[in-house]
Amino acid sequence: MTLKVYNTLTRAKETFKPLQEGEVRMYNCGPTVYNIQHIGNFRAFLFADLLRRWLEASGYAVRQVMNITDVGHLTDDEHDEGEDKIEAMARRSGKDPWAISRQYTDKFLEDMGQLGVREPEARPRATDYVEPMAKMVEELIEKDFAYQVGGNVYFDVTRFENYGKLSGNRQEDLEAGARIAINDEKRNPADFALWKSDPAHLMKWETSFGPDGFPGWHAECTVMAIELLGESIDIHTGGEDNIFPHHECEIAQSEAWTGKPFATYWMHTKFLQVDGGKMSKSLGNVYTLDDVLGRGFTARQLRFALLRGHYRQPLNFTWDTMVAARSALEGLDDTVQRLRELAEGKGGDLAPEDGSELVAQARATFTQGLDDDLNVPRALPGLFALRPAVLEHRLGSRAAAEALDFLCLANEVLGVLDMDECFIDEQVEELIEARQQARAAQDFAEADRIRGELEACGIVLEDGPEGVRWRRC
Ligand code: AMP
Ligand code: ZN
Repeated sequence: MTLKVYNTLTRAKETFKPLQEGEVRMYNCGPTVYNIQHIGNFRAFLFADLLRRWLEASGYAVRQVMNITDVGHLTDDEHDEGEDKIEAMARRSGKDPWAISRQYTDKFLEDMGQLGVREPEARPRATDYVEPMAKMVEELIEKDFAYQVGGNVYFDVTRFENYGKLSGNRQEDLEAGARIAINDEKRNPADFALWKSDPAHLMKWETSFGPDGFPGWHAECTVMAIELLGESIDIHTGGEDNIFPHHECEIAQSEAWTGKPFATYWMHTKFLQVDGGKMSKSLGNVYTLDDVLGRGFTARQLRFALLRGHYRQPLNFTWDTMVAARSALEGLDDTVQRLRELAEGKGGDLAPEDGSELVAQARATFTQGLDDDLNVPRALPGLFALRPAVLEHRLGSRAAAEALDFLCLANEVLGVLDMDECFIDEQVEELIEARQQARAAQDFAEADRIRGELEACGIVLEDGPEGVRWRRC
């Protein structure tokens, strides 16, 4: 089985091949922490989590980084204009910008936890990387890709031949479009800011460009990705609005800086719509996780509702989709319960292997769906296919145990079933090995703890003369 992913850069579905065998380095553009993240933002973050989990289930060691943007993201980022979003919020609310970013970072992490999103290897905050950002900007000036005007530094897009390769925006089009927002300082209207200076800015740093500057949003992600993952990475993700200018600019400055390709695969999530249209404050339909919980739904149901559409298709959120998500999950949870009973042999007089083929087929459907550019709607029928067989008692005890095993794996990837904490075979083997080592070291408390942990997940150990055997029950 091979994973194929759609690459925005090549506009084609490609066979996934990491730069280093067995390892994937992935950078996900994270939130700008000036406000509570809405369910559209979470669509993008849940996709990153899904991708990481599927890569792991496919055997890759995944090095995942998702940043926190806590300075430099302007209200009109397309034209390098407007106010810093965090500072704008600080002024509106009378709070300190650092307090704003702390408050909304904490809320973001709490919501991500509720939504069952796994922690990445690193969550760098832009403000912790200002020094290397300034260094990159200095080096881009030395290499003649950037120029300084007063305390501002711009990237000269005419110096980077491939500017536009991701978004398809040609420089001529950009120049025509940018005329309305002409900035006299720029050599070309399409040039973008790497560094800005502003004495009135509240979060500012002294550098060789002046006493009161701050980095541009695009420069931030490039530097955090390269500092933490290396000059060339495998995957870079974001929402579709990140394609231009954010990711286009990231490519230009990183490749100009290092002389190497930045990311092999660029993957973008289509926007979440609400009631068939754009979410908007004026329509009162910019929903947060708390709004969804307030209507009596759970975070797990929202996770499922946001994951069940293909990430490259627009997804329409309505309260009916939440009702549908709830009922689909109730059916799946009930299937798990019934499978447990069947696996214990309570299914009557079927042969243990009866229905094994159906389970293998369900597993194949799931795998093929996800391998096809993370196509969840193509994968889900694998899960739903088990239900009629369970209700009609067509699965013997062994087939039911295999089905549970499959659902465990599926849940490692989707994280939406009510299976408690559950382990896939490899994890069970690892825990058993850890228990053996604890016993050998006479650490019986630890050995018992591991046995308890496994038992809580329905895994029973039998110590025998030829070693430890285990089974699911
Ligand atoms: P921001 O906090 O504005 O930097 O956005 C965080 C992430 O959410 C970015 O990757 C955006 O592209 C993404 N995003 C914003 N709005 C939506 C939406 N309606 N649907 C899906 N993704 C979105
Ligand atoms: Zn970014």
